Amino acid sequence: MQIIKSIETLRETLRPLAKEGKTIGLVPTMGALHEGHGALIKASVKDCDITVVSVFLNPIQFGKNEDLDKYPKRLEADAKLAESLGADFVFAPTVKEMYPDGDPLTMVRDETLESLYCGAYRPGHFRGVLTVVSKLFLITRANRAYFGEKDYQQVFLIERMVKDLNFDIEIHRVPIVREASGLALSSRNEYLSEEERVQALGISTGLKEAKAAFLAGEKGVAKLRDIVVKSILLNRGQVQFVEVVNQKDLQKFSGVLKSSDKAVILVAAFFGKTRLIDNIELN
Ligand code: AMP
Repeated sequence: MQIIKSIETLRETLRPLAKEGKTIGLVPTMGALHEGHGALIKASVKDCDITVVSVFLNPIQFGKNEDLDKYPKRLEADAKLAESLGADFVFAPTVKEMYPDGDPLTMVRDETLESLYCGAYRPGHFRGVLTVVSKLFLITRANRAYFGEKDYQQVFLIERMVKDLNFDIEIHRVPIVREASGLALSSRNEYLSEEERVQALGISTGLKEAKAAFLAGEKGVAKLRDIVVKSILLNRGQVQFVEVVNQKDLQKFSGVLKSSDKAVILVAAFFGKTRLIDNIELN
Protein backbone atom coordinates (compact mmCIF):
# COMPACT_ATOMS: atom_id res chain seq x y z
CA MET A 1 0.00 0.00 0.00
CA GLN A 2 1.24 3.45 -0.90
CA ILE A 3 0.78 6.76 0.93
CA ILE A 4 0.40 9.59 -1.57
CA LYS A 5 0.49 13.24 -0.56
CA SER A 6 0.32 15.04 -3.88
CA ILE A 7 -2.81 15.53 -5.98
CA GLU A 8 -0.82 15.23 -9.20
CA THR A 9 0.82 11.95 -8.12
CA LEU A 10 -2.51 10.47 -7.12
CA ARG A 11 -4.01 11.48 -10.48
CA GLU A 12 -1.07 10.05 -12.41
CA THR A 13 -1.26 6.82 -10.40
CA LEU A 14 -5.01 6.31 -10.77
CA ARG A 15 -5.40 7.37 -14.41
CA PRO A 16 -3.79 4.27 -15.99
CA LEU A 17 -5.63 1.98 -13.56
CA ALA A 18 -8.95 3.50 -14.61
CA LYS A 19 -7.92 3.13 -18.27
CA GLU A 20 -7.36 -0.58 -17.69
CA GLY A 21 -10.98 -0.71 -16.56
CA LYS A 22 -10.29 -1.04 -12.84
CA THR A 23 -13.07 0.27 -10.60
CA ILE A 24 -11.95 2.80 -8.00
CA GLY A 25 -13.54 3.10 -4.56
CA LEU A 26 -13.01 6.16 -2.37
CA VAL A 27 -13.35 6.29 1.41
CA PRO A 28 -13.11 9.90 2.62
CA THR A 29 -12.03 10.29 6.27
CA MET A 30 -10.48 12.82 8.63
CA GLY A 31 -8.14 10.18 10.09
CA ALA A 32 -7.91 8.67 13.60
CA LEU A 33 -9.39 5.60 11.96
CA HIS A 34 -11.48 3.12 13.93
CA GLU A 35 -13.69 0.16 13.06
CA GLY A 36 -16.43 2.47 11.79
CA HIS A 37 -14.05 3.70 9.09
CA GLY A 38 -12.94 0.07 8.80
CA ALA A 39 -16.43 -0.98 7.73
CA LEU A 40 -16.33 1.59 4.90
CA ILE A 41 -12.89 0.42 3.77
CA LYS A 42 -14.01 -3.24 3.85
CA ALA A 43 -17.09 -2.42 1.77
CA SER A 44 -14.95 -0.65 -0.84
CA VAL A 45 -12.33 -3.42 -0.95
CA LYS A 46 -15.10 -5.96 -1.46
CA ASP A 47 -16.79 -4.01 -4.29
CA CYS A 48 -13.91 -2.29 -6.09
CA ASP A 49 -10.60 -3.24 -7.71
CA ILE A 50 -8.76 -0.30 -6.14
CA THR A 51 -9.52 1.39 -2.80
CA VAL A 52 -8.29 4.88 -1.97
CA VAL A 53 -8.69 6.03 1.65
CA SER A 54 -8.30 9.76 2.02
CA VAL A 55 -7.06 11.06 5.36
CA PHE A 56 -7.52 14.80 5.46
CA LEU A 57 -8.45 16.90 8.46
CA ASN A 58 -10.41 19.46 6.49
CA PRO A 59 -10.06 22.86 8.21
CA ILE A 60 -12.87 24.52 6.26
CA GLN A 61 -15.51 22.29 7.85
CA PHE A 62 -14.56 23.34 11.40
CA GLY A 63 -15.87 26.45 13.15
CA LYS A 64 -13.49 28.82 14.98
CA ASN A 65 -14.23 27.41 18.42
CA GLU A 66 -14.34 23.78 17.43
CA ASP A 67 -11.84 20.97 17.92
CA LEU A 68 -9.66 21.27 14.80
CA ASP A 69 -6.46 21.70 16.84
CA LYS A 70 -7.07 18.88 19.27
CA TYR A 71 -8.52 16.39 16.76
CA PRO A 72 -6.45 13.15 17.03
CA LYS A 73 -3.81 12.71 14.31
CA ARG A 74 -1.97 9.45 13.64
CA LEU A 75 -1.29 8.91 9.96
CA GLU A 76 1.05 5.94 10.45
CA ALA A 77 -1.46 3.93 12.47
CA ASP A 78 -4.21 4.94 10.02
CA ALA A 79 -2.14 3.71 7.08
CA LYS A 80 -1.46 0.40 8.87
CA LEU A 81 -5.15 -0.15 9.52
CA ALA A 82 -6.10 0.78 5.96
CA GLU A 83 -3.44 -1.59 4.61
CA SER A 84 -4.53 -4.45 6.87
CA LEU A 85 -8.05 -4.11 5.45
CA GLY A 86 -6.84 -4.26 1.87
CA ALA A 87 -6.74 -0.57 0.84
CA ASP A 88 -4.37 0.22 -2.03
CA PHE A 89 -3.67 3.89 -1.42
CA VAL A 90 -3.91 6.37 1.42
CA PHE A 91 -4.24 9.89 0.10
CA ALA A 92 -2.99 12.25 2.82
CA PRO A 93 -2.54 15.74 1.37
CA THR A 94 -1.48 18.76 3.42
CA VAL A 95 -3.83 21.72 3.82
CA LYS A 96 -1.55 23.68 1.45
CA GLU A 97 -1.89 20.95 -1.17
CA MET A 98 -5.69 21.03 -0.99
CA TYR A 99 -6.09 24.79 -0.52
CA PRO A 100 -2.94 26.41 -2.01
CA ASP A 101 -4.51 29.88 -2.03
CA GLY A 102 -6.12 29.66 1.40
CA ASP A 103 -9.81 28.97 1.92
CA PRO A 104 -11.43 28.32 -1.45
CA LEU A 105 -13.64 31.04 -2.88
CA THR A 106 -15.72 28.57 -4.88
CA MET A 107 -17.73 26.33 -2.59
CA VAL A 108 -20.58 23.85 -2.85
CA ARG A 109 -23.64 24.61 -0.73
CA ASP A 110 -26.99 23.06 -0.03
CA GLU A 111 -29.32 25.99 0.48
CA THR A 112 -32.02 24.20 2.45
CA LEU A 113 -30.30 21.85 4.84
CA GLU A 114 -27.00 23.57 5.58
CA SER A 115 -28.62 25.53 8.39
CA LEU A 116 -30.71 22.75 9.94
CA TYR A 117 -29.80 20.17 12.62
CA CYS A 118 -25.98 19.91 12.70
CA GLY A 119 -25.77 22.85 10.31
CA ALA A 120 -27.70 25.11 12.71
CA TYR A 121 -24.99 24.69 15.35
CA ARG A 122 -22.02 24.42 12.99
CA PRO A 123 -22.34 27.32 10.52
CA GLY A 124 -20.26 26.67 7.41
CA HIS A 125 -19.74 23.01 8.30
CA PHE A 126 -21.65 21.41 5.46
CA ARG A 127 -20.34 23.67 2.73
CA GLY A 128 -16.85 22.73 3.96
CA VAL A 129 -17.80 19.06 3.73
CA LEU A 130 -19.49 19.29 0.31
CA THR A 131 -16.58 21.30 -1.08
CA VAL A 132 -13.86 18.91 0.08
CA VAL A 133 -15.86 15.85 -0.98
CA SER A 134 -16.36 17.39 -4.44
CA LYS A 135 -12.63 17.99 -4.69
CA LEU A 136 -11.91 14.38 -3.69
CA PHE A 137 -14.39 13.08 -6.26
CA LEU A 138 -12.76 15.19 -8.99
CA ILE A 139 -9.21 14.34 -7.95
CA THR A 140 -9.75 10.57 -7.75
CA ARG A 141 -12.50 10.21 -10.37
CA ALA A 142 -13.62 7.29 -8.24
CA ASN A 143 -16.51 5.11 -9.43
CA ARG A 144 -17.89 4.63 -5.94
CA ALA A 145 -17.58 6.42 -2.61
CA TYR A 146 -18.43 5.09 0.83
CA PHE A 147 -20.00 7.10 3.65
CA GLY A 148 -21.27 6.10 7.09
CA GLU A 149 -24.86 6.52 8.22
CA LYS A 150 -23.44 7.75 11.52
CA ASP A 151 -23.30 11.16 9.81
CA TYR A 152 -26.84 10.90 8.50
CA GLN A 153 -27.31 14.49 7.37
CA GLN A 154 -23.89 14.42 5.72
CA VAL A 155 -24.54 11.31 3.60
CA PHE A 156 -27.96 12.67 2.67
CA LEU A 157 -26.42 15.95 1.48
CA ILE A 158 -23.70 14.15 -0.46
CA GLU A 159 -26.27 11.96 -2.24
CA ARG A 160 -28.27 15.05 -3.14
CA MET A 161 -25.18 16.92 -4.35
CA VAL A 162 -24.22 13.98 -6.58
CA LYS A 163 -27.69 14.00 -8.08
CA ASP A 164 -27.98 17.78 -8.41
CA LEU A 165 -24.51 18.24 -9.96
CA ASN A 166 -24.38 15.00 -12.00
CA PHE A 167 -21.23 13.67 -10.41
CA ASP A 168 -20.45 10.37 -12.13
CA ILE A 169 -20.09 8.39 -8.91
CA GLU A 170 -22.18 5.92 -6.90
CA ILE A 171 -22.64 6.72 -3.22
CA HIS A 172 -22.77 3.73 -0.88
CA ARG A 173 -24.15 4.05 2.63
CA VAL A 174 -22.64 1.91 5.39
CA PRO A 175 -24.64 1.26 8.60
CA ILE A 176 -23.40 2.66 11.92
CA VAL A 177 -20.77 0.56 13.67
CA ARG A 178 -21.29 0.52 17.43
CA GLU A 179 -19.37 -0.77 20.45
CA ALA A 180 -21.00 -3.74 22.18
CA SER A 181 -22.35 -1.18 24.68
CA GLY A 182 -24.26 0.59 21.90
CA LEU A 183 -22.01 3.66 21.71
CA ALA A 184 -21.51 4.66 18.07
CA LEU A 185 -17.80 4.57 17.21
CA SER A 186 -16.37 8.04 16.66
CA SER A 187 -12.90 9.58 16.63
CA ARG A 188 -14.32 12.07 19.13
CA ASN A 189 -15.06 9.31 21.70
CA GLU A 190 -11.36 9.65 22.57
CA TYR A 191 -12.17 12.99 24.24
CA LEU A 192 -14.54 11.32 26.75
CA SER A 193 -13.48 10.55 30.32
CA GLU A 194 -14.35 7.07 31.59
CA GLU A 195 -17.38 8.46 33.36
CA GLU A 196 -18.57 10.41 30.31
CA ARG A 197 -18.15 7.34 28.13
CA VAL A 198 -20.68 5.52 30.33
CA GLN A 199 -23.00 8.53 30.42
CA ALA A 200 -22.81 8.85 26.63
CA LEU A 201 -24.67 5.53 26.38
CA GLY A 202 -27.72 7.68 27.22
CA ILE A 203 -27.88 8.54 23.52
CA SER A 204 -27.93 5.02 22.05
CA THR A 205 -30.10 3.69 24.88
CA GLY A 206 -32.62 6.48 24.30
CA LEU A 207 -32.64 5.86 20.55
CA LYS A 208 -33.16 2.13 21.08
CA GLU A 209 -35.99 2.81 23.55
CA ALA A 210 -37.65 5.22 21.14
CA LYS A 211 -37.48 2.69 18.33
CA ALA A 212 -38.90 -0.03 20.58
CA ALA A 213 -41.74 2.32 21.59
CA PHE A 214 -42.40 3.14 17.91
CA LEU A 215 -42.51 -0.55 17.00
CA ALA A 216 -44.86 -1.14 19.95
CA GLY A 217 -47.27 1.45 18.53
CA GLU A 218 -46.12 4.85 19.82
CA LYS A 219 -46.49 7.22 16.85
CA GLY A 220 -46.46 10.60 18.63
CA VAL A 221 -43.46 12.63 17.46
CA ALA A 222 -43.20 14.59 20.72
CA LYS A 223 -43.38 11.38 22.78
CA LEU A 224 -40.67 9.69 20.71
CA ARG A 225 -38.44 12.76 21.02
CA ASP A 226 -39.04 12.89 24.78
CA ILE A 227 -37.84 9.33 25.26
CA VAL A 228 -34.47 10.24 23.74
CA VAL A 229 -34.21 13.62 25.50
CA LYS A 230 -34.97 12.05 28.90
CA SER A 231 -32.40 9.31 28.43
CA ILE A 232 -29.71 11.90 27.63
CA LEU A 233 -30.66 14.17 30.54
CA LEU A 234 -30.81 11.24 32.96
CA ASN A 235 -27.23 10.50 32.02
CA ARG A 236 -26.10 14.08 32.61
CA GLY A 237 -25.82 14.90 28.94
CA GLN A 238 -26.82 18.22 27.40
CA VAL A 239 -29.16 17.96 24.43
CA GLN A 240 -28.29 20.07 21.40
CA PHE A 241 -31.12 18.70 19.29
CA VAL A 242 -33.31 15.63 18.99
CA GLU A 243 -35.49 15.66 15.86
CA VAL A 244 -37.75 13.12 14.21
CA VAL A 245 -37.29 13.69 10.47
CA ASN A 246 -38.24 12.14 7.16
CA GLN A 247 -35.58 9.82 5.72
CA LYS A 248 -36.55 11.01 2.23
CA ASP A 249 -35.99 14.77 2.58
CA LEU A 250 -34.84 15.27 6.20
CA GLN A 251 -37.82 17.54 6.89
CA LYS A 252 -39.17 17.50 10.45
CA PHE A 253 -42.19 15.46 11.34
CA SER A 254 -44.70 16.79 13.83
CA GLY A 255 -47.92 15.43 15.32
CA VAL A 256 -48.45 11.74 14.75
CA LEU A 257 -46.47 9.51 12.38
CA LYS A 258 -48.38 7.47 9.81
CA SER A 259 -47.39 3.84 9.44
CA SER A 260 -46.13 4.59 5.91
CA ASP A 261 -43.83 7.40 7.16
CA LYS A 262 -40.15 6.57 7.04
CA ALA A 263 -38.66 8.41 9.98
CA VAL A 264 -35.20 8.72 11.47
CA ILE A 265 -34.35 10.32 14.81
CA LEU A 266 -31.30 12.60 14.63
CA VAL A 267 -29.46 13.51 17.83
CA ALA A 268 -26.60 15.75 18.91
CA ALA A 269 -25.66 15.98 22.58
CA PHE A 270 -22.76 17.04 24.77
CA PHE A 271 -21.16 14.92 27.44
CA GLY A 272 -18.78 17.25 29.22
CA LYS A 273 -17.22 19.27 26.40
CA THR A 274 -17.59 16.51 23.82
CA ARG A 275 -20.27 16.78 21.19
CA LEU A 276 -21.56 13.44 19.90
CA ILE A 277 -24.05 12.66 17.16
CA ASP A 278 -26.10 9.54 16.53
CA ASN A 279 -29.34 8.47 14.85
CA ILE A 280 -31.71 5.58 14.38
CA GLU A 281 -34.11 4.77 11.57
CA LEU A 282 -37.51 3.79 12.95
CA ASN A 283 -38.52 1.68 9.95
P1 AMP B 1 -14.82 11.10 9.80
O1 AMP B 1 -13.38 10.66 9.76
O2 AMP B 1 -15.39 11.22 11.18
O3 AMP B 1 -15.08 12.30 8.92
O4 AMP B 1 -15.65 9.93 9.14
C1 AMP B 1 -15.33 9.45 7.86
C2 AMP B 1 -16.42 8.52 7.41
O5 AMP B 1 -16.55 7.44 8.32
C3 AMP B 1 -17.81 9.19 7.33
O6 AMP B 1 -18.48 8.73 6.17
C4 AMP B 1 -18.47 8.70 8.59
O7 AMP B 1 -19.88 8.66 8.50
C5 AMP B 1 -17.89 7.30 8.70
N1 AMP B 1 -18.01 6.82 10.09
C6 AMP B 1 -17.52 7.39 11.20
N2 AMP B 1 -17.89 6.69 12.30
C7 AMP B 1 -18.66 5.66 11.86
C8 AMP B 1 -19.36 4.59 12.49
N3 AMP B 1 -19.36 4.43 13.82
N4 AMP B 1 -20.05 3.73 11.72
C9 AMP B 1 -20.07 3.89 10.36
N5 AMP B 1 -19.42 4.87 9.72
C10 AMP B 1 -18.74 5.74 10.44
